[in-house]
Formats: sequence, structure tokens, C-alpha cells
Amino acid sequence: DFDSPSVSTLSVYNHNEEALGQETVKTDYARGLKRKSLHENSFSPMQRFFKRHLSVTLLCDQSWCEMKTVYSLLKPHLKRKDLQCTEVQRGKEIHLLRELEIQDTVPIDIRTREDAEAIKLLNMLHMIPLLEAGERVREFPVFGVQEGVFVMGVIDELMYNQKGELVVNELKTRKCNSMPSSAQDKVNCFQVGLYKLLFDGLVRGEVKKDHVLNHLKLRSAQVLGARVQAHAKSIGVQVTTFEELLDALLITVSCSDLPCVDMLQLEYYHQGSSGPIGNRVAPFDEAQLRAELQGYLAYWTGQREPKGVDIEEAWKCRSCLYEQTCDWRKNRSQVSDQQAAHASSCS
Ligand code: SF4
Repeated sequence: DFDSPSVSTLSVYNHNEEALGQETVKTDYARGLKRKSLHENSFSPMQRFFKRHLSVTLLCDQSWCEMKTVYSLLKPHLKRKDLQCTEVQRGKEIHLLRELEIQDTVPIDIRTREDAEAIKLLNMLHMIPLLEAGERVREFPVFGVQEGVFVMGVIDELMYNQKGELVVNELKTRKCNSMPSSAQDKVNCFQVGLYKLLFDGLVRGEVKKDHVLNHLKLRSAQVLGARVQAHAKSIGVQVTTFEELLDALLITVSCSDLPCVDMLQLEYYHQGSSGPIGNRVAPFDEAQLRAELQGYLAYWTGQREPKGVDIEEAWKCRSCLYEQTCDWRKNRSQVSDQQAAHASSCS
């Protein structure tokens, strides 16, 4: 019953943000290409693609195939087509319906990038007391600096289990009515592991004001839009500038009673029958996760070239949008052909 949500959580939807974001990507992409051809080797990929931060989604894509992630930035029109496919759209609808089960959405006009970020902080400020009171929240933003790179994500669902443990629950919708392959499962476990790293960093007070301001290049003294200020007031937050709101959020989250995340869960759901497929508890090995993350970030910070999939995972190329044009795949095929020719000439 979406008119009467069982828990009256308020989630703010900003209908200008998407357009704002798309415009930025378009401009950055054009500038990125121009800059790339002029100074290909003097900029890290973070700089070349004008990225102030990386999203958890992008890092998960990278863990599937790094080359594919790079192509999606170089050829965004193909990626956009992929995102319009029925499966992706159906997945989005199911996520939205889930969110609306316990949260209302309120459209708020924004004028600046600071306003856009303020919306996320206000959503967090609204959800923290609910979570402290033992309630379930959905679409909880998380962020922090990992290996010198600012990483942002949105946790599907945070809730307590019967033992009173704090659980990250990630909903995955699937076209097939079966649990995912081990390769896909690995990516999903990496995703929820990243959420734990970011959430725990926030409650431990490891995220500092300067991290947010400097990495995202936000103006601390920027006065928030009238609508944003009015919404802040409606949830009991009296702020005028972005810096005041950021201070309020960081103090609230680090001084809250919130524990670190105890458990990571993946919930698989069938799109066709709209029924559950199964749940899985994801393992968490912090050292292993950090090592993996370090490896991915080494590409973004310009410490190494991008890589495609290993030969054992060549099956991933068969369903890849960039299969026909991928240099990594072409080079790998040539090497395989040469090795086969060499082997037959020796036999
Ligand atoms: Fe990666 Fe294969 Fe796609 Fe190339 S074709 S981007 S190696 S999945």
C-alpha cells in the first residue's frame, strides 16, 4: 500500500539532478577526448575522464572487466543503449517499488552541485535516527576516501536481524529464475563489502569535511537553495550553507549509536515471477577486499594500463557490447593463434 507506507521515512528525489549529471558527463567526455589526444600519457584516468569520485557501481563493473568499463566511458552511447534494455528497466522498477514500500519521495528543485549533494546528506540525516531506533531504511548514501580516491555508493537496505545485528541487504533482480554464476556472485560480494567499508568509515568518524570538499570540489560557503533549506528545516536541521550541513551530518553520524555493519546479505529476486530466488550471506575478508580495491584504483590513479579478462574468463566477451572492437580481445586472439601455429610447426 504505497499511499500508507508502514514506516514514514522521507526520501528526497531531485528531478533536476539527472539532467545536471548528464550534462556534466557529456561535456566532460568531449573535453576528455580532446585532452586525451593531446596529452594521452600525462593524465591519470581520473583526470582524463574528469572524475572527482568513483561510484561503487563503476568499481563493480570494473571487477567484471576493466576494459569494458573503460570502453563504457569512451563509447557512452553503447552503454546507454544497454541501460535501456528491458531487464535493466525492470530491475529499476522493482527497486523503486521496494523503496516506496517504506519511504515517500519528495521532489525538490536544485540550482547548484552543492544542492545536489545536500539532498544526499539530508536523506542520511533523516534516516540515521530511524536506524538508531531499530527501523529498516532503504537507499542510504555512503562515501569515503579509499586509497586516496573518493568513493560513493547507495546501500539498498540496512536493517537489523533477529540477533540484533546490523545487516546490509542488497537486492539483485534476475531475468533467470536461478542463483547467479560464481563470477557474478563474486562481483556482488565485492559490492556489499565496499558498502561495509564505506559505512563503517562514516560511523567511526574517518570521513572528514575536507575529504568531501576537496575531492568533490564543492564550495563550503555556498548558500543552499531556498527549497533545500526549507526541506532541511522540515526535518529539524537549521542550516544555510553547504559547510554547515556537512558538519551537521558528519557529527551526527560519527556520534550516533549506529554500529558497524555485522552482516552482508544478497537477496536474489526473479523479474518474471516477481518472486524470491534465494538469499546468500556474503563473506567479508577486509584484507582481501582492500587488496582487490587497491588493484582497481591503481588503474584510475594512473599506475598501470587497463586490462581485459583473462583467457579463463573469455566467455565474458561473448555477451560484451564491445566484443567486435575490443583491442584486448583482438590481441589475445592473435597471441592464441600464434601459439597454436607455433605448436603445430613444432609437432
Ligand atoms: Fe572485456 Fe572481453 Fe568485452 Fe573486451 S570483449 S571489454 S576483454 S569482456
